[in-house]
Amino acid sequence: TASRPYRGRFAPSPTGDLHFGSLLAAFGSWLLARHAQGTWLVRVEDLDPPREVAGAAERQLRTLAAFGLHSDEPVLRQSERGAHYRAALERLLASGAAFACHCSRSELAEAGGIHRHCVSGPRPGREPAIRLRVADGSVVAYDDAIRGPQSQDVAREVGDVVLRRADGYWAYQLAVVVDDAEQAISDVVRGADLLDSTPRQILLQRALGLPTPRYAHLPLVLDGAGRKLSKSDAALPVDAERPLPALAAAWRALGQDPAVLHGAGTVAELLARSQSGFDPGRIAAAPTIALGEF
Ligand code: GLU
Repeated sequence: TASRPYRGRFAPSPTGDLHFGSLLAAFGSWLLARHAQGTWLVRVEDLDPPREVAGAAERQLRTLAAFGLHSDEPVLRQSERGAHYRAALERLLASGAAFACHCSRSELAEAGGIHRHCVSGPRPGREPAIRLRVADGSVVAYDDAIRGPQSQDVAREVGDVVLRRADGYWAYQLAVVVDDAEQAISDVVRGADLLDSTPRQILLQRALGLPTPRYAHLPLVLDGAGRKLSKSDAALPVDAERPLPALAAAWRALGQDPAVLHGAGTVAELLARSQSGFDPGRIAAAPTIALGEF
């Protein structure tokens, strides 16, 4: 896989407007893709209708466009890809790697919250969830391009992974693995809030016989009070009318030299300068950076 062409992506969920944390993931993944002379894709992860906000996907794409960040290929929408997720799920069920689980949330909570074996049988009128069976001792290790060596005992820390929810919706974990493979993504660059999901995605890739991309997790930005931006006032949407200050702030949050951007008066100029002056080695390996630190 080392010689696969570089293909990166930004994969927002349309649960609201683009905030600073998402801009960081978008700009960071774009910069790393451009640095590698690779392809950069945008994928709309609209597979959780109860959590989605009407019109958010279109607004996110418009905001990205205002920031000069355009997908190199047509935007993939997860809401249109059910047949692909179903095919993957059926392969896992056929091989015995996945199973139907009738446990309820409260039963699982009583059993410690981590699914290792079913504590409940079928009940009339309730659909089962489908889970990936995670064998005891499933420790997944990988080398994060920013954070270095990572490892997680998926059996102990996560348990059997939900692939399709009891309410019938596809789980993010299955969809992201199927789509990263379908789009031949070589490099997943995203926020450190997803660090914890990576080992289970790697297990799922192995169960499906799919290649594992390289992973790079960008630091999470915290506000002055140490809260995740998505949970605080600083999560105010980035202003598509004023892209330059937001891009410059994201550039600094990525550890880059502010002087590189001096004098850039348009988005195109700023992006051109950022592309030629980008140094991936300056991205902080720390799990979080505070707003005041850049
Ligand atoms: N859709 C996910 C989110 O917005 C990100 C998926 C990913 O980058 O793997 O949190």
